[in-house]
Amino acid sequence: MAFSLPELPYAKNALEPHISAETLEYHYGKHHQTYVDKLNGMVEGTDMAGQSLEDIIRTASGGLFNNAAQVWNHTFYWHCLSPTGGGAPSGKIGELIDRDFGSFEAFVEKFNAAAVGNFGSGWTWLVQHPDGSLAIDNTDDAETPLTGNATPILTCDVWEHAYYVDYRNARPKYLEAFWKLVNWDFANSNLA
Ligand code: MN
Repeated sequence: MAFSLPELPYAKNALEPHISAETLEYHYGKHHQTYVDKLNGMVEGTDMAGQSLEDIIRTASGGLFNNAAQVWNHTFYWHCLSPTGGGAPSGKIGELIDRDFGSFEAFVEKFNAAAVGNFGSGWTWLVQHPDGSLAIDNTDDAETPLTGNATPILTCDVWEHAYYVDYRNARPKYLEAFWKLVNWDFANSNLA
């Protein structure tokens, strides 16, 4: 039972003008697909072939961890974006952001500072700790909150392949696009 590339939750051009179809052709169609293909190549014929993606991520290391975690992280990331997203958060996530960061504006400022300061390739996350509190975390390369105690609520992929086609090296411009697409319904669905 091989892993497969999950369907995108929207058309490849649905995030334009903020994230182009060309970006999704490469980021989803090539990068994400390659992580799936490499993962399948590594688990084929081993006792991991029947394990869930999450179980592999929680026990693997090295290249196997990197490809498994990148498969999971990217699937999660696509759901963090929506053609009807953006704007101020609604529902419980809005209340928790106000409670834990003071205001939506203060939260965005702190998240952007973390994302811009995430050196090299990685991910910037909004997570929820077991006590219910929200926090912003950076991870390097393929690292993911799945290996710890916090629950991922939202993520922004800050690998250059996420924004180079549209924004070249300007990560702050890509973050502006991220906030115009952010899927608060998905964030709400991830809360405890
Ligand atoms: Mn990526």
